[in-house]
Amino acid sequence: MNIKCGGDIVSTKICSKCKTENNENHNYCFACGYPLNDSIKEKEIIRLLGISFGLEVYNMLDKLVNVYESILYERPNYADVRYRCALAYEIKGDYQKAIYHLMEALKINPDYIQARSKLADIYVILGNYQEALIEYKNLLNTKIKYTFADVHNNIGVIYEKQGNIKQAKAYYQKAISLNPKFAKPYYNLGNIYYEKGDYEQAIAYYKKALSLKLEIPEVYNNLALAYYKLDNLIETENNFLNAIKLDPFFFDAYYNIILFYIQNNNFHNARKYLDILKQRYPKNFEIDYLEKNLDKKMKESIKNETIEEKGKKI
Ligand SMILES: [Zn+2]
Repeated sequence: MNIKCGGDIVSTKICSKCKTENNENHNYCFACGYPLNDSIKEKEIIRLLGISFGLEVYNMLDKLVNVYESILYERPNYADVRYRCALAYEIKGDYQKAIYHLMEALKINPDYIQARSKLADIYVILGNYQEALIEYKNLLNTKIKYTFADVHNNIGVIYEKQGNIKQAKAYYQKAISLNPKFAKPYYNLGNIYYEKGDYEQAIAYYKKALSLKLEIPEVYNNLALAYYKLDNLIETENNFLNAIKLDPFFFDAYYNIILFYIQNNNFHNARKYLDILKQRYPKNFEIDYLEKNLDKKMKESIKNETIEEKGKKI
């Protein structure tokens, strides 16, 4: 803004942040401290970007989103920062802000694959499967060269959650055909065959997932359950133990192996793992249930023994 004042021209700079008028030779707003000069702003953004990497590493999320918001204030079309800002909000659990920034990033660049797939992932977290499906399918329509095996797998997961097993299976199989070394769809197919009662097929898929280094405790746990259905007790026990070894706090695997030992009258091991589980999860009603079950089964077996002994004496 130029103000004519007795022949002299006095220019002022208006702060873009707080709208205060500043004297022309000011580099920073006297009211809020915001840079008024473009080259300073540029330097400031570079400085903030530098800071952000450190904050990301140290997981200082509150400060990090502040830094990103400051950058975006000045450079609203900086899609990459929008995306990173969304990731920080996601970790903070502020999904609405994450969604907002991802949508802004996608307005800037509709082919921003990571942003779109993150948006879909967040919809899944929020249980908003219809929106998630739309975004995953939008991804499949982008022209960028990319296999999208992961997107096919994710679409399969949504169909499975919605009970559309046929579609789920088709998408998992497509994911595998696009990238045969992608482990997750094998695991997911394993679960579908398990549900169908085809345990041999389920085991084959779980093993394939493990061979492709999807070494998550859930795979071992489900593999153990499938072996149990086929009465292969040795492999059942081994795989529950593998699951526990991989994650010493994996409640389900402890729960399952304790039940397994109780059912097989291995009271010593049942007690051993029950004690570990109680230590890990001090207040849990499901553990009380296991404990009652164990006590009952032990009493019954003592009763049976005395009956047998009496029988022998007769
Ligand atoms: Zn200002």
